[in-house]
Amino acid sequence: MKKIGILGGTFNPPHIGHLWIAEEVRIRKQLDEIWFIPTRTPPHKDTSVLEASHRLRMLRLAVRDNPHFHVNALELEREGKSYTYDTVRDLTSSYPEDDLYFIIGGDMVEYLPKWYRVDELVHMVRFIGVSRPGYTLETVYPVECLEIHPLDISSTFIRNRLEDGELIRYLLPDDVMNYIKENQIYGYR
Ligand code: ATP
Ligand code: MG
Repeated sequence: MKKIGILGGTFNPPHIGHLWIAEEVRIRKQLDEIWFIPTRTPPHKDTSVLEASHRLRMLRLAVRDNPHFHVNALELEREGKSYTYDTVRDLTSSYPEDDLYFIIGGDMVEYLPKWYRVDELVHMVRFIGVSRPGYTLETVYPVECLEIHPLDISSTFIRNRLEDGELIRYLLPDDVMNYIKENQIYGYR
């Protein structure tokens, strides 16, 4: 039996905020592994998101130096919208022996009431909510909240800086930054 943390996200692009919360939760909850799960079509994001193949390759680069971190592409392989409900149902049936912990930042804690079939979902997996600047960890749902040192970094911030031709080094792993440069994505110039 393993304790597995799951971090779902768009990872558009992955950054040190994602790695920071994953490692903090892993250590504090004594998890064996963290599975990063990139979403196919995020139900709550209407703006166009960078194609999945780029996001998947960047995510693999981002996690590769941590032996506890893994990428699971099951949402990309499934047709249609990505609902966490479907993902958690698939994972609990594929790994019935393991304990799953679904990690979300404060913005997602606030957004939980709008999640698809959330009333069932919160009883299918343990939710861990972590601090994110600008959001509270208050919720009526059964979420275990962990105060972690907040890092005010988001993919949106990084994309905006790239659009403006500004420095992004150290906000994300060097390999991911180099991938963005080589592929000239996010308006990199
Ligand atoms: P975007 O700005 O495009 O929404 P993001 O930085 O929020 O990107 P996501 O891929 O949307 O990244 O987030 C995946 C998960 O990681 C979510 O649960 C989100 O709350 C959490 N997360 C991302 N960055 C942070 C951060 N700096 N602190 C805490 N949680 C974070
Ligand atoms: Mg987000």
